[in-house]
Amino acid sequence: MSNNNKPGFAGKGYYIALILCAAAIGITGYWYYQSESNVQDIPVEETILQDIPADAAQVQDVPAIATQPATRPDTPSAPARTMPSVTPKKELKTMCPVEGAQITGYSMEALSYNQTTRDWRVHNGVDLAAEEGAPVVAAADGQVYTVYEDDYLGYTVVIRHDDGYTTRYSSLTEEIPVKSGEKVTMGQAIGCAGSTAVVETTLGSHVHFTVTKDNEPIDPAEFLAIGK
Ligand SMILES: [Zn+2]
Repeated sequence: MSNNNKPGFAGKGYYIALILCAAAIGITGYWYYQSESNVQDIPVEETILQDIPADAAQVQDVPAIATQPATRPDTPSAPARTMPSVTPKKELKTMCPVEGAQITGYSMEALSYNQTTRDWRVHNGVDLAAEEGAPVVAAADGQVYTVYEDDYLGYTVVIRHDDGYTTRYSSLTEEIPVKSGEKVTMGQAIGCAGSTAVVETTLGSHVHFTVTKDNEPIDPAEFLAIGK
């Protein structure tokens, strides 16, 4: 209202300008009020926008759906994994390595008299009588671990089998058709009965047959009973 006292601005133009200013203030005030109300609406819109994350969660389902095709390759590979786990599980089958009567039994707990060495000692296997040259076969599927001439038991073949079993065939003749590392099947010829075991020469031609389970000697009869 102090503007009304200014002498230099008298006249219609001044009042028109004053009215316009008042109108402008009024419009501005109205606009401000409206804009404030608009701002107050924004939180409402924001609450609406808060639903969008819910939609975004649905969008997150899309990658989950997209992973379903990725699982498809696993589906055929899954039975492929189970197949090898089924195949290696096979029962060990055994057979006597030579046809012949047992002339010395397994005796690891009690000493038995040895006619050749003329002393009492344990016997870690069985002696199976067989004519010189009689075929000796692998008692089970396995892999030849070693072939060597033992100082006491003569020409010897050692075969490793599943489940920690090892079979050993001694007093063989020098002619041995298998080598170390060679895979053999049950019944495959691995040598011939002989009399090369210097500690058992009084027994004549035979096979000194021993079996170990996890490197501990067991009764060969126990091994030969597997799968029967
Ligand atoms: Zn023996």
